[in-house]
Amino acid sequence: MSKKIIITIDGWSSCGKSTLAKQLAKELHYTYIDSGAMYRAVTLYFLRHHIDWTDDAETKNALNDIHLHFGKNEKSAECEMFLNDENVEYLIRDLIIADKVSDIAAVAAVRTFAVAQQQKMGTHKAIVMDGRDIGTTVFPNAALKIFMTADIAVRVERRFKEMFEKNPNIVLRDVKANLEMRDYIDSNREVSPLKMANDAILLDNSKISMEQQLKFALQLVKKVVEE
Ligand code: C5P
Repeated sequence: MSKKIIITIDGWSSCGKSTLAKQLAKELHYTYIDSGAMYRAVTLYFLRHHIDWTDDAETKNALNDIHLHFGKNEKSAECEMFLNDENVEYLIRDLIIADKVSDIAAVAAVRTFAVAQQQKMGTHKAIVMDGRDIGTTVFPNAALKIFMTADIAVRVERRFKEMFEKNPNIVLRDVKANLEMRDYIDSNREVSPLKMANDAILLDNSKISMEQQLKFALQLVKKVVEE
């Protein structure tokens, strides 16, 4: 498939967006960009430096000191998140970050900061970016937009398993509460709330396998590219 496009994958927390985005990027030889990691890295910086994100001037000052980039982990060959040249990929997956990230991602200055960088990454197309507002705000003209959903019980189970591997003390109830809280804040914030773009295609993966969802998405890509 020679025509290069931008593929956006938005949806609720833990419904497998990054899994599908990575699979697609691999198949198509595209770059995968995890926009959520950028909000998580900003959150890590704010927590470490005790930034009051309800204070506009303090927030903007802090953002001036933040440099984000995706770099390759030589061991895993995965693209990971760097905050001021420190690999923070592992740290940003913690529940402490997940607990605050939606509040910080709702701040207008934080979104302006992240969206500008995300848009630059799409200049040459051939990217798959996942997040909450990629099809609505970051790339409203993307050639293919997928909106993912899955039953809450399925999403909680998946996120719990993922977090349990790193931290066996994690409690299912806390994981569920965090997902519900983030979904609520993300879909009710004033700036770029999580919602399905009018021209997005809905993918509910509660009952389908990873192979089936990849097949479905690849068919969509083929259709768009060959149009
Ligand atoms: O995708 P992930 O769960 O890592 O995203 C973490 C949080 O970052 C989301 O719950 C949301 O608050 C925020 N986010 C966002 N817009 C995006 C991506 C993530 O607001 N495009």
